[in-house]
Order: sequence, then structure tokens, then C-alpha cells
Amino acid sequence: MENSFNGMLNLVHVQCCVCESDDANPIGVGEDFEYRTSSDTFLAMQCNSCGLVYLNPRPDVSGFETIYPPTYHAFDFSEKDFGIVYKIRSRLEAKRLLSWCKDLPEDARILDVGCGDGFHLNLLKRYGKKSWTLEGVDFDKRAAAMAEKSGLKVHTGSIETLNLPENTFDLALMIQTIEHLEKPSEILAAIKSVLKTGGKLVIVTDNTDSRDFKLFKNGYWGGYHFPRHWNLFNQNSLTKLAGKVGFEVVDLRTQVSPVNWVYSIHNWLVDLEKPRWLTNQFTLKSTVSLSVFTSLDIVLQRFGKGALLRAILQKP
Ligand SMILES: [Zn+2]
Repeated sequence: MENSFNGMLNLVHVQCCVCESDDANPIGVGEDFEYRTSSDTFLAMQCNSCGLVYLNPRPDVSGFETIYPPTYHAFDFSEKDFGIVYKIRSRLEAKRLLSWCKDLPEDARILDVGCGDGFHLNLLKRYGKKSWTLEGVDFDKRAAAMAEKSGLKVHTGSIETLNLPENTFDLALMIQTIEHLEKPSEILAAIKSVLKTGGKLVIVTDNTDSRDFKLFKNGYWGGYHFPRHWNLFNQNSLTKLAGKVGFEVVDLRTQVSPVNWVYSIHNWLVDLEKPRWLTNQFTLKSTVSLSVFTSLDIVLQRFGKGALLRAILQKP
């Protein structure tokens, strides 16, 4: 997996996707510490107006197949490979998902945008009401194929070009998806048009107003996920984006996650060229570090500084 350098990527210069402005300062520099898909060094900028953190320059869309290698974890988070971590995460995520679904009607239609291998839809299928209709969207054919293998209905492509019927869905989910997008406002607008009036969109994404960001923002922060996370939000930039698209913010808070803590330390140790046995203590398979940082983030979350942001938006 590591050391599979594919050389240089095509990079494009961009501006803040919320303000459409260039008024930003560099805040972090790093490389693809996790998958080594490219030998490039990447730069994170922060918009002086809204606080959005964005990769600039970033790979153009032609680089997708390179930056999302077949070993990419979102494509195969399985019980077989992740054991107890899979079990705990599944239970926790199912509880969260059902809390967002509690006011839905019997015949609700739910759309997971960026459904990956269908992890969240499968949890809804298992723990939710059997009368719900579940559908997913993912631009990656490999991910969509894995989701379809478990019997889910998945639309392959990007939602703004799929021509899904308008005013159809009661709930849309974007769980750790928005940070991967080239044009978040266009995707949000497309989601808004397929939602019914009063329908809700739940967004979960990395929080740039967190302790882990503050400590590691110069380069090792796990949330950068260089070069795959293109737009990273705080409460201000996410609220501004929602308003730009015409969503109402019903709820916006932080959510507990150990993942960015674990990856930040992993990236730091990798850059110090520490041995593999040590860096392996800080991955999604390391139960000890996941437990320690979950406990820490539970405390931080109580102070509104959890590692993830969770927004519930509504189509008025
Ligand atoms: Zn901005």
C-alpha cells in the first residue's frame, strides 16, 4: 500500500467555494501520509472571510482514480477486516442514524449521498423501519458495486447530473462526504431539489474549530486527508454555505470522533520515520488508541469542540 508512488498529479488553482474569493492565507502543508498515492506536497488555505479551509491547488477531477486507490478504506469497512471496531462503530452509528429518522413517516424515502460501500444504508436496512425506501448515490463505480452487492439501490454518478425526481425524499444524508466535493454548493442545491418541502439534510464532516485541528493544523491533521479533502468547514462556513443554497439550519453542533486524533498522530509518526510497529498503533484498527481518543473527544464535545461537525438543514 505504501510507497506506491504514481508521480505528479494535475493540479488546479481554486478559490473559496463559499465566498468565491481568493482572500485566504496558507495554514498547513502536508502529503498523502496514509496511502502515498502521489509524491506531491499539498497546501491548505483558510479563507479570511468565512473560515473555510481548502486544498489549493488541488488535484483535478482526472486524478480521482489515482487519489482513491483500490485499498481506500471507505470502499471496504468490513467486519472481517475491522472486527470489534466494526461492531462498536456500527452500533454507535446506527443509534445516531435512528435519532435523525425519529420523525419520519412510515413511507419515508431516504437518500444517502456519497454512500460508499453502503455502510449507513445497511444499518438503516437492518435497524430502521422495513417500510422505508433506501437509496444511495456515489460517483465511484467500485463503491456503488459493493453497495449493490448487499441489495441496495445505488445511483452511480454525481447527484446534480443524475436527474433524480424532484420533491421525492424526506431525508438526505451526507456523512463524511461534503469534504470530498469539488463544488459543495452545487451538490447541496441538487439535494435540495430532490427533497420534499420540509425535508431534511444531515451533514457530518470534519470540524476545523476542534482541538485536534488547532494542534495539528500545520500539516499532520488527520482531517486534511491530503489530497482527498478539498473543503473543510467550521460552524461559520457551513452556516454560510447552507444559507447560500437556501437551506435553513435546524441544528448545528459538534460530534465525537477519535479518527482525526488517531490519524494526526499517525501522520506525525510517519513523517518522523518511526518504525511500522509504532505507527500501526495509530490506525482505524487500533482499539487502544481509538478508545483513548474517544474518551478525550467526549470531554471536548461537551465544550462544543468535538472532532466532527453535524448540521441538520431543512428545505423551507
Ligand atoms: Zn470563504
